[in-house]
Amino acid sequence: MTIRTPLAPCLECGLVSAIPAISGEQNACCPRCGHTLFRQVIDSHQKVLAIGTTCLVLLAISLVFPFMTISVQGLSHHIVLLNALSVFHYFDNNALAVLLVLTVILLPACYVLALMMLFALAAKKKEGDYPGDSWWVKQLLRFVFRIELWLLVDIFLVGVLVSIVKIAAMTDVVMGESFWAFMLFTLMLVKISRATDRHWLYHRLFRPMPTGKVKAGDTHLSQNHTACRLCHCINIPDDNGDMPDACQRCHSALQPYNPEKSLTISAALAITALVLYAPANLYAMMYTISFGSTESSTIMDGVILLWQLGSYPIALVILTASVIVPLTKMLILFHLLMTAKTTHHPDDSLAKLKLYRFIELIGRWSMIDVFVVALLAALVQFNNLMSISPGPAVAYFALVVIFTLIATMIYDPRALWTQEAISPATTTKPATQDLPNG
Ligand SMILES: [Zn+2]
Ligand SMILES: [Zn+2]
Repeated sequence: MTIRTPLAPCLECGLVSAIPAISGEQNACCPRCGHTLFRQVIDSHQKVLAIGTTCLVLLAISLVFPFMTISVQGLSHHIVLLNALSVFHYFDNNALAVLLVLTVILLPACYVLALMMLFALAAKKKEGDYPGDSWWVKQLLRFVFRIELWLLVDIFLVGVLVSIVKIAAMTDVVMGESFWAFMLFTLMLVKISRATDRHWLYHRLFRPMPTGKVKAGDTHLSQNHTACRLCHCINIPDDNGDMPDACQRCHSALQPYNPEKSLTISAALAITALVLYAPANLYAMMYTISFGSTESSTIMDGVILLWQLGSYPIALVILTASVIVPLTKMLILFHLLMTAKTTHHPDDSLAKLKLYRFIELIGRWSMIDVFVVALLAALVQFNNLMSISPGPAVAYFALVVIFTLIATMIYDPRALWTQEAISPATTTKPATQDLPNG
């Protein structure tokens, strides 16, 4: 296997490592913080094209057939996937309807298509030809890797399971063909992102980028390069010593290392999320009308009801995803924001980096309750007999999740690493570990 990128910057601790030739399906990890610098996948382009085609077929099937059917006292009502996702439109909240359709259908479909196009281009490129020179290929690449975080398909699926448990006690629910197709689509979407070998793609699409005087062991504090946060390319100053404004490889805006700026913006967003967290918990998440009387319920009411119905695991899932996760996430973020500059020992930096990775991992899952309300409002519509409509808390709640996600994205974890040099032994250590591809 040939060496693809002789140098790779770590976006979590800033260390630049030399990447040795690796064979088979292996991960190259940062020797200082353990972050995966890249994952090598054998036959990545065949896998992406095959899984991508399956994904698109499954998505098409899940849009056409009934998604769920529910029956109450002889009345039955079925919904298709798009009904459930666009239901907020009928309750005059178009922004939420757009958000749901985007994150569950449109963006995932565009993501798969764009990824397949990039891999098809990379696979058929000829010697000396660099498809990445065209601006639209760069656009496509930036689009693909920017939206990855916003594909909420897996969270929607868990939302479906939670809503079934919520209404199973009062009604009969039958899953349609679409549901099963959608479940497979979710699995395939996870698989396609695991099959993506980004470095193979970059190597095939783009010209090799000069790395100038940058060497293994340099960090974000060495001031001789700026790492692109999107494609991880090392950008060096031009002949006049000026750092380019945009990445030389993917053309996304380069953000020179500026902890003050990233921490301030991240703090502002986290405070906004904390303020919105109050109405999200105090206002009604949904209204249930049964036999003419209306009952409103907040997130906590929902948890208590599930507990009383005996659905303990689901009550715990909602309590964790909707109450504990957003709050924990904001508290950890505030802790990281306030203590970033006082972190001097590498062990301390690593401990805080692990906290950062934790909140990055759990953040998206708070969207479960928004999906649950959407599904229930779409499903349970039997006029005065029983119907469910969304409350004002849903929009606040979605905003809390969006603001905390962006705050985490903008927080630069390299601010935790204030140490310029590390021991010489570590800098020359190969950045590979024989990890299984997972
Ligand atoms: Zn690192
Ligand atoms: Zn780039």
